[in-house]
Amino acid sequence: MANMHFPFSSAPTRTIEEIQFGLFSQKESERLAVIDIEYPETMDEARLRPREKGPNDPHLGTIDRNFKCATCEEDQVECPGHFGVIKLAVPVYHHGFLKQVKKILETVCHNCGKIKAVEDEAFRSALRIRSRKARFDKIWELSKSKLICEPDPPEEENAAKQGLPVIRHGGCGNVQPQMRKAGIQLFAAFKPRKSEEDDEIPGGAQPEKKRFSAQDALNVFRNMHDETLEILGLNADYARPEWMILSALPVPPPPVRPSISVDGSGQGQRGEDDLTFKLGDIVRANQNVLRTEHDAPPNPFALR
Ligand SMILES: [Zn+2]
Ligand SMILES: [Zn+2]
Repeated sequence: MANMHFPFSSAPTRTIEEIQFGLFSQKESERLAVIDIEYPETMDEARLRPREKGPNDPHLGTIDRNFKCATCEEDQVECPGHFGVIKLAVPVYHHGFLKQVKKILETVCHNCGKIKAVEDEAFRSALRIRSRKARFDKIWELSKSKLICEPDPPEEENAAKQGLPVIRHGGCGNVQPQMRKAGIQLFAAFKPRKSEEDDEIPGGAQPEKKRFSAQDALNVFRNMHDETLEILGLNADYARPEWMILSALPVPPPPVRPSISVDGSGQGQRGEDDLTFKLGDIVRANQNVLRTEHDAPPNPFALR
């Protein structure tokens, strides 16, 4: 039992007063990390020491009694391990939040970030729902079928006169897409505009469907006001929708994903945990994206 070997600590104990759950922002993930993970290899070329800036960088902590942690300089008993980070070349959807991200994209205008539902009686009663989750679901229901961000509804003045909470509305008039989820991707489908040419196409014009990237979602979310988040039941300080998109991936310390000595001697070859292999795959894929972006020929259409 490792616990029995902990020496006496004179550090003062504190009472926990509050626990706040929330999402990690990109900044938080980067601030928490002791090192950027940039290489997929776990060991150096001689295969004797963990590779620097690899998934088992010595700054992340030690699981080997022969090495001390490069961050806190403690041994494997004392060092709790430290997080690293992979800075992603392009933002990606977080699989666990994809459904929620799609719902928010169906609730607000992709151009101005305002809630699409107009201020009618149904919307006002939705605003009175105290449960954040139930309120979000109701407003989502009222908004998802709106395929236009309605400009200035006349109800706005009346609502102000009756002393009801005034919600910033008065849309921008932009056409809104229908969102579709396929696997781990999102697509935006725009209804074809009615025109005389439609009659010539058998079955009418098909909706225009395009891939909706995590960067697109991020652009929409950054347009949302804090008041909009509050109305939707999202906490602007601890759970902003842009944090549901990953731009920096936290790398858990090696004690979370320990490698095992293949021959049992603690020396020589080690078998890595599946999570470590996966992190290596992510770093490799990330490097490929970075290289492609870097080497891409300049877009001739962008030159004028
Ligand atoms: Zn340490
Ligand atoms: Zn709008």
